Amino acid sequence: MKPIGVLCLQGDFREHLLTFKALGIPTVRVRKEEGLIGIGGLVIPGGESTVIDKLSKIFGLRDSIIKLISQGLPTFGTCAGLILLAEKLVDGTQTQQTFGGLNVVVQRNAFGSQLDSFEEDVDFVGIDTPVHAAFIRAPIVTEIGADVSVVAKLEDGRIVGVQQGNILGISFHPEVTGETAVHRYFADMCKSANF
Ligand code: GLN
Repeated sequence: MKPIGVLCLQGDFREHLLTFKALGIPTVRVRKEEGLIGIGGLVIPGGESTVIDKLSKIFGLRDSIIKLISQGLPTFGTCAGLILLAEKLVDGTQTQQTFGGLNVVVQRNAFGSQLDSFEEDVDFVGIDTPVHAAFIRAPIVTEIGADVSVVAKLEDGRIVGVQQGNILGISFHPEVTGETAVHRYFADMCKSANF
């Protein structure tokens, strides 16, 4: 299969690279525009969405990423990555922009500060066993468009995972808990999209 690009500007991209490595799935590090050539999917890691937004502009990646997403490149965002894929943000900074692609409203830092971080097993549509997930200054999805399906919810009903066509966005970090199932799920999305 074509390698999956992992956006390596800021955040926990190393954990994503290691998770795909554990699954034997090829990856490339995306720091420059050339890194986007020939990839079969793209991961936008967790970290700080405002910083990834700024760096994507400084590194000249923003426009190409937006174009590829609109062309159907399978794209997977975790936490800050979900924020960057949202069409609309609540509690973003004044200047913060997203790449968009997911027809959802996402609220940043919806669980409070770093101290309100937690781990939980989450049911995930399309994955047989619950996913062990870390929520770190995590966002939630507060509204979804008609073309968006919910793939993960907390027990209280809050939406923490969505998929719209080839775009997958989750509030949490399976990549920091040794969890591999969501990465396999995304790799399968990339295989069937054959972008
Ligand atoms: N709160 C962070 C943001 O706004 C996201 C946190 C994370 O990715 N763990 O970007």
